[in-house]
Formats: sequence, structure tokens, C-alpha cells
Amino acid sequence: MKFEPVIGLEVHAQLKTTTKIFCGCKTAFGAPPNANTCPVCLGMPGVLPVLNKKAVEFAIRAALSTHCTVARISRFDRKNYFYPDLPKGYQISQYELPVAEHGYLDIDVDGNIKRIGITRIHMEEDAGKSSHDDNRPLSMVDLNRAGVPLIEIVSEPDIRSPEEAGAYLRKLHAILRYIDVCDGNMEEGSFRCDANVSIRPKGSEPFGTRTELKNLNSFKNVEKAIQIEINRQIGIVEEGGKVIQETRLYNANKNRTTSMRGKEDAHDYRYFPEPDLLPLVIEADWITSVGKSLPELPDQKKQRFIDDYKLPVYDADVLTSSRELADYFERCLKTHKNPKLVSNWVMGSLLGLLNTEGKTVLQSPVTPENLGTLVKLIDKDVISDKIAKTVFDEMARSGKNPEKIVEEKSLVQVTDHSALENIVLNIIASNPKEVEDFRGGKTKLMSFFVGQVMRETKGKANPKIVNQILSEKLNQA
Ligand code: ADP
Ligand code: MG
Ligand code: ZN
Repeated sequence: MKFEPVIGLEVHAQLKTTTKIFCGCKTAFGAPPNANTCPVCLGMPGVLPVLNKKAVEFAIRAALSTHCTVARISRFDRKNYFYPDLPKGYQISQYELPVAEHGYLDIDVDGNIKRIGITRIHMEEDAGKSSHDDNRPLSMVDLNRAGVPLIEIVSEPDIRSPEEAGAYLRKLHAILRYIDVCDGNMEEGSFRCDANVSIRPKGSEPFGTRTELKNLNSFKNVEKAIQIEINRQIGIVEEGGKVIQETRLYNANKNRTTSMRGKEDAHDYRYFPEPDLLPLVIEADWITSVGKSLPELPDQKKQRFIDDYKLPVYDADVLTSSRELADYFERCLKTHKNPKLVSNWVMGSLLGLLNTEGKTVLQSPVTPENLGTLVKLIDKDVISDKIAKTVFDEMARSGKNPEKIVEEKSLVQVTDHSALENIVLNIIASNPKEVEDFRGGKTKLMSFFVGQVMRETKGKANPKIVNQILSEKLNQA
């Protein structure tokens, strides 16, 4: 029997507000344990939460950017559970009336657009963090994160493969970073994903029992964990067993999932309306003005790059994967407007450099102005492609501008026809055997001759002119 996976994703995104959702404590990551706390986020009795307006604005931004309808009236609820990192004994969340619903994201699956529904977006507070000491019999609780604002974005079970899950997540991640509501740092936990996975016989309607995977801290791990979970479930069903509804933890080192706990149902949480907060009423005017403040989103930017710069879809996709990279690219174009050649250098050498140095585009040692100038030098035949790579490496090391590097190292391309002709004639004279073979039909030797000229000119000869002179001289026996 063939099986089909059914996947739905829940994403928790930390909002980039400077203060927490119900108190004035700082949200900054990395403070000493429990430094960013107060009676409200410590869950002391007798204190009251006050909603952070910025957090609501960020939720609206996220909702509008994912085609959701913002609810004019929504409500906060208490989700009750007992855990050391949850000081109040309940989490303030939204349950029956979330801040937004009915959205979607379009993802690219092998060149086809597939629409993934978004069920809802709701606001909630984050919990604290427990850490456990393997050597001592104790656990530690850090409540700096308690009360940091989150939105949870719940997808419909529309996803059908690990790759689709990866594409959906990358798209959502890019959007939240574009609109500047979440820093997207998966390792620090500001963008976390739980994956719900089930299987069903291909062609059958009803969904199978799902498991929920946690601890997925990179896009790659999400895809890997979903794949092995699909395989595990198929294995169980093929042996006549039944998948049980549970929460499973992914272990990246062992690349397997292990059971963590039985999956709670909603009623286990005894949700009820938060009596300390009024319903959240959002005026239509506010939604409109937030909508107007949104920047160009990844899909729009990608389409504009294709239309205006005539870039291939692939290039446009890579270049718009983050707003910073897209800005970098467009700043290069301000210096030199050859989109495709600039794109090649950004996607190739620049991303390669950032990758090996572990830097973000904002930390790039090569400025966009310098990269734009480099491409201009290539386009104007001042330097060859090969030399350009040397100049790029030097820019990466020293941060100098390319014109200065070319001048200091006298790397200017040799385009002087008669100078190159002399060199070619010398080479022909000193390699009679190769010349004879070439004329006898071993035309592959052309690259040998080109290599000789390049050696003679330290790579500075203009390859087009060299090729032209060589074929002329070699063929005129
Ligand atoms: P909970 O908060 O208990 O996990 P939700 O009803 O919010 O429950 O659903 C969570 C996610 O599970 C959603 O993304 C939904 O698309 C997905 N989901 C629901 N049923 C299935 C299923 N049978 N197989 C896979 N995913 C599912
Ligand atoms: Mg869930
Ligand atoms: Zn506080």
C-alpha cells in the first residue's frame, strides 16, 4: 500500500518588542538569569497584566502579511498547566477568539505554486526556561523569557512532504523578518516550529492519528525529523500496529524521534477567559494604517526583480530570500547596472565568502559599492573574470576598493592587440610539436596555448582577444 503524509505546522515567533507583553521588563536575549523580571512576569499574587500595544501592532503586521483577516474583537484566555518555568500556573494565550484567521502562504514546489492555508494566528506569552545539571541533582529556572510576546501561527494540514514543510517555513521566516516583527533566530529560539505528522493510505480521505514533533531548531532538522517520522509511522502501520497520538522529541545527533509524553487535548488545559484583561478591540483605522506601513514583501520583490531586472526566477528567489540581501544587491546596481552579472557575483563569490566566514550580509567585508565597481571593471574590460576573482579575494581581506587594488597590483587586463600578438607568435615558435599536432587535428590543444599566454601575462590577457589571435595564427599554416 502507498501512503501519503499529512503535515501541519505550528510556528512560535518571538516578537521584537523591547518590553514584554504584559509588563515593562526588557526582552533582550542573554541577560543574567532572572535579571529581566518583575512581580507581573514572576506570577506574584495581586498584580495585573497590561497589554503591550506594540505587540498587537506586530501581530497585525504578521496577519496582514500572511493574508489573514484581523479580528476586530479577540480575547485572551488562560491555558492552565503546571510546570516549573510557568510561574502563574497558567499561560495567557488566545483560544476561541484569536487575533487573526483564514490566511495562506504560497510556496514554490518544483516550479509550481502551492497554497498552504493558515488557520489562525494568536498572541500569547512565552514561558521561562528550565535547565538541568547532569552532575548535580538540581534544575534551574530562568524567567527572563517568561512574558516575552509570541505569536503562534498555525497552518492547515495542507502540507504533503518534508520539502513542502521546509518551503513553507522558509517563506514564513522570510516574511516575518521582512516586516521586522521577529529576528528569526532559530538557535536562540525566537522562531520555533512544531510539526504535526500523520499518514493515510494514498487516495483515502480521513486523516490518520497525528504525532507532534518538537525540538526542531533548524530548517534542515524540520525536514529530516518529518521524514523519519513518516517512515516510522509507515513501519508501524505496515506491521499491523496503530500510531498513537503523542508528542515526540527529535534528537538531531541520532536523527531519530523519541516519545516525550502523551499528547494533551485542548480540554486538558481547562481554557477559560482571562478575567484580568479586557477583550482586545482593534479599530479598522488601525488595521488600515498598519497595512500601509508594510514594506514590499518577498513575493512582490521577487516578481519585481524578475520584471525589472530580467533575472531568472532562481536568481530572484535567492536574492530576495532576505531583505538585507535584496538591499545589498540593489545597492550594487546603484554603482553598476548589470543585474545578471551582479547577481552572479552576489550569489557566487559573495554568498560563498559570507558562508565560509560565518557572517551575515550586513557584516560583509565587501561593500556593495565595491562589488558594484568590481563588476563595472569586468564589464569595461579593464580586468578579466579570472583577475576579478583575485581582486574580490583581496577586497574581502583588506576592504580596499577594487580600483585601488587593480592599480596597486597592476592587474589591468592586457587588451593591446599587438602586444598579445607578439606573445602568441613567441609561443607558437617555441612549441613546434604542439603546433604541428594542432594543425594535424588535435584542436583540444587550444586550451594549452591559451594557458601559455595566460602564464606569460600572469592571467591578465583578455581571453577573447587571445582566442581570436590564436585561432588566426594557428590556422594560417
Ligand atoms: P494543538 O494545539 O493541540 O496541537 P491544533 O488543533 O491547533 O492543536 O492543531 C495543530 C496542528 O496540527 C495544525 O497545524 C493542524 O494543521 C495539524 N493537524 C491536525 N490534524 C492533523 C493530522 N491528522 N495530521 C497532521 N497534522 C494535523
Ligand atoms: Mg500542537
Ligand atoms: Zn516583568
